[in-house]
Amino acid sequence: MDKQSLFVQVANLEERIGELYVELGTLKDKIIALIEENQRLEQELERYRTGAALPPDGELTSSGKDNLMRIYQEGFHICNVKYGSLRTDGECLFCLGFLRK
Ligand SMILES: [Zn+2]
Repeated sequence: MDKQSLFVQVANLEERIGELYVELGTLKDKIIALIEENQRLEQELERYRTGAALPPDGELTSSGKDNLMRIYQEGFHICNVKYGSLRTDGECLFCLGFLRK
C-alpha cells in the first residue's frame, strides 16, 4: 500500500471538508439574513393590514408613501380593493392610482 499517496488523499479530503464547512457557514448566514428580512417584511405588512402605519387623518406622509411604494414593488396590493394580498397578475390600476395621489 502506498502510504504516501494515502496520506495525500486524506490531506486533500481534509482540505475539501474545510472548504465545504466554510461554504456551509456562508449559506447558513444567508438563510438567517433571509429569515430576518422575511420576518421584518411580515411585521411591516401586518402593520399596514391593521392600518397602524397610516396616520389618523388618512393623509400620507412622503415616507409613508415610500413604504407603500416599496411594498407594492415587492409584489403586494396596497389598494382598498385587494389590500395586502399578493399581486399575481402584474400591475394594479387601483394601486397605481392610489400611489399617484
Ligand atoms: Zn391593487
